[in-house]
Amino acid sequence: MEKVQIASMTGAELVACAEQLPKGRGAARAIYRQALREQRFDPDAHGLSAEGARAWTDRFALDLPRVVRKAEEDTDLGPTAKLVMALHDGLECESVVLPMGRGKTTLCISSQVGCKMGCKFCETARMGLLRHMTTAEIIGQILRARAEGFTVNNVVFMGMGEALDNADNVIQAVRVITDPAGLALGQERVTVCTVGRIDGIKKLAEASFRRLNLSISLNAPDDALRSSIMPIGRTVSLAQLQQALIEYRPRDNFAVGVNYCLLPGINDAAEHAAGIAAFCAPLGRVMVNLIPYNPGSAPMTRAPEEGEIERFVSYLREHGLPVRRRITKGRTVMAACGQLGNVELRRKKPITSPPPA
Ligand code: SF4
Repeated sequence: MEKVQIASMTGAELVACAEQLPKGRGAARAIYRQALREQRFDPDAHGLSAEGARAWTDRFALDLPRVVRKAEEDTDLGPTAKLVMALHDGLECESVVLPMGRGKTTLCISSQVGCKMGCKFCETARMGLLRHMTTAEIIGQILRARAEGFTVNNVVFMGMGEALDNADNVIQAVRVITDPAGLALGQERVTVCTVGRIDGIKKLAEASFRRLNLSISLNAPDDALRSSIMPIGRTVSLAQLQQALIEYRPRDNFAVGVNYCLLPGINDAAEHAAGIAAFCAPLGRVMVNLIPYNPGSAPMTRAPEEGEIERFVSYLREHGLPVRRRITKGRTVMAACGQLGNVELRRKKPITSPPPA
């Protein structure tokens, strides 16, 4: 019988399926807490007999991804670290530890190996989609980062993959991340990012996470330009995306994140800023996150210069938009936004049998 991965479950789910096992609910709670907080599965530590512990290990497992490569870049706020992790089938995912100041750290995690969305400014797009990651693999990145000694205060789904293309596993991962019985991160510490998968936004709404953050990758304020750099623009218009965001209002003071990758000479004119303001106008509270383009291994343009970034920030502010300029971290080790991915992995065939739950 295939073992169930503890990291794929909430504490209540483990308790529910452990009723028939030795020490039942009590052991389940302690085992869950140990697995999610200490990254180890050791039923012996909970007063079970050898036979009782075996009953647990026969049925459950905690298989974490292995770090196979690590690259760090020093920044003013501390080191940015890219962790390349091997999954059970030899494919790899990438996570990035980002220092946020005052000792806080954000972990940017992957939800897929590769991605099928084809955004022109993104290295992961060059891989194509090899496969979805399971909930346990998504959570495994957090557990492994902690096991490597990194603190994780916030989690963003902005690594490899379109999170809402793998919505069911990502939504379950949010439940696990925010479960007080285990990892216990507040929902406000978790951000799901999407290129605009309206079906996924609706699923997220149904999951009723009231304090979860949602951000979208806008990158162009009109359908023609957007479609030329983001193929999703051909099937989902900006009007449709705007309507989905108007309907997604989990709480009164919700502010949707609007990510904008600044591509010099392509989307950085005054009229683009005006278009962003028009797109945001009916959305209520927004926060525009301006991300200077980070060239990958096949750049579509150059990185914007400091003056170009400042000019665009002032265009946006003239329209009354709140703007946060993303400080570039990890560019020298290909860990910055848009730089994750390993095109070499394309040579490995996508697996056909499903990975463990
Ligand atoms: S930007 Fe995100 S959605 Fe677009 S190709 Fe890259 S990983 Fe996929």
